[in-house]
Amino acid sequence: MAANILLVEDEPAIQELIAANLARAGHHIVRAADAESAQRIVREALPDLVLLDWMLPGMSGIEFARRLRADERTRSIPIIMLTARGEEHDKVTGLETGADDYITKPFSPRELVARIKAVLRRRAPQTTEDPVELGGLRLDPATHRVAAGAQAIVLGPTEFRLLHFLMTHPERVHSRGQLLDQVWGDHVFVEERTVDVHIRRLRAALESTGHHQLIQTVRGSGYRFSTQVESTGVQ
Ligand code: CA
Repeated sequence: MAANILLVEDEPAIQELIAANLARAGHHIVRAADAESAQRIVREALPDLVLLDWMLPGMSGIEFARRLRADERTRSIPIIMLTARGEEHDKVTGLETGADDYITKPFSPRELVARIKAVLRRRAPQTTEDPVELGGLRLDPATHRVAAGAQAIVLGPTEFRLLHFLMTHPERVHSRGQLLDQVWGDHVFVEERTVDVHIRRLRAALESTGHHQLIQTVRGSGYRFSTQVESTGVQ
């Protein structure tokens, strides 16, 4: 599984060690040495997960986690806190600010990779290689294949990622901006109508088996993958 992980850690040696281990596990790492630069990075592209040191110069890791949770756009990014503190009340504070998990230094690289995998599986299933089956479609991230029963469906890379995200977050409406953030990783330099273009291509590819109806337009809001056909608000 490959996820885009934002590592916020001010100690160069620890940053280097973590980054090397996560890269070996197949992840893409973006590094920040303080919360202020991490904020700038997040403003441009949403990571799949934030690995966040508690003690940072300037804004603390806890404060940064609070800000991520307070903002609609960044609210659901999984966060794992890293800390040298092992005391119970600190752990509670960390989890109360909305961290998904909490790792006390020193930790083994293997433990870190395993904890990241567990959080991603729970919170960002589109980054895992688990096959998804829904509404008569089967999507396998490991082989990059989509099938409706015995019939293979050929998709371009963007349509594949789009369908993967929609199938792992079904029955929910996603705005064009959210889809750009989640599927393109860029909501600043890509135009929203790009989403419409790829939704059209995705529907066209699904049409021969009748599965295009799973991709629904919710007028004024965005798109949704739904196995329930609705009579209102759907084109
Ligand atoms: Ca630190």
